[in-house]
Amino acid sequence: MRALVLDDRVSVQESRPAPNPGEGEVLVRVSCAGICETDLQLIKGYMGFRGVLGHEFVGVAESGPLAGRRVVGEINCACWTCETCRKGLNTHCPNRTVIGILNHDGAFADLIAVPQRNLHAVPDALPDEIAVFTEPVAAAFQIPAQITIRPDDRIIVLGDGRLGNLCAQVLARLSNRVTVVGKHPQKLALLKALGIATALVSDPIDDRSADIVVDCTGSDTGLPTALRLVRPRGTIVLKTTVAGTQTLPWAPFVIDEVTLVGSRCGPFDRALEALERGEISVKPLISERYDLNKGLEALERAQAKSVLKVLLNVA
Ligand SMILES: [Zn+2]
Ligand SMILES: [Zn+2]
Repeated sequence: MRALVLDDRVSVQESRPAPNPGEGEVLVRVSCAGICETDLQLIKGYMGFRGVLGHEFVGVAESGPLAGRRVVGEINCACWTCETCRKGLNTHCPNRTVIGILNHDGAFADLIAVPQRNLHAVPDALPDEIAVFTEPVAAAFQIPAQITIRPDDRIIVLGDGRLGNLCAQVLARLSNRVTVVGKHPQKLALLKALGIATALVSDPIDDRSADIVVDCTGSDTGLPTALRLVRPRGTIVLKTTVAGTQTLPWAPFVIDEVTLVGSRCGPFDRALEALERGEISVKPLISERYDLNKGLEALERAQAKSVLKVLLNVA
């Protein structure tokens, strides 16, 4: 099969052996996949990953109860037997692999092996290029799964990129005081068109004015900015990982009694429902589409500042 593989470098392989599904896994024939910031970080050495990249995908199950149907798949592959899994924290299973991120070949390939229980059927009405956003939309829905959002909460989302956009859309359905702070007028315009308030980083924003600040910057400047903007007893949600070590004076967290919440993968069923109902607009986020054969160009393009989502057509 064809696959976009990260070894010492990234390359498109034309005849990589198809994955061998393990117990409880099924093969999925990938039709469309999305390039995410994490893929770009992995190429830079994050997690030390080696193998087929890609964790945002939609495809057709080749076997199992959903055989022949279009599916999306959760990315954490848990053991389901350890104490963490038995407590229902399977996305934190210490024995887990993570599709395209940790010891599990990913979706930038013709075929991928996915645990059957990770799969969700895609509603017929959802085209592939919308369903492929299920994973990042689910990640955005993890915020209200972790913290209570009140309609009058003043929320600042830092970052106007792919994830910032989706988080802002999810939060704007729960609070009418959401502002996205970004650097790119064109990306902010997409949010404005949805009725979401925006500001440039250079605009004046009152210090200690936000009940909740969500950091989607993927930058080490995100957390210090969030700490400046959050009110005493407010909450900072960290949505993006930054490689390396950041330093910060921690005393303000104590003095202002700020809550810091790390937030990662989220509920796929909620994301599929929101996409099906058109609650979340993802089409304007698609900047470019490439065939899998042109995967290297696609990865290159995804790094451009002006670009939001780059999709890979696989089938
Ligand atoms: Zn991702
Ligand atoms: Zn486990």
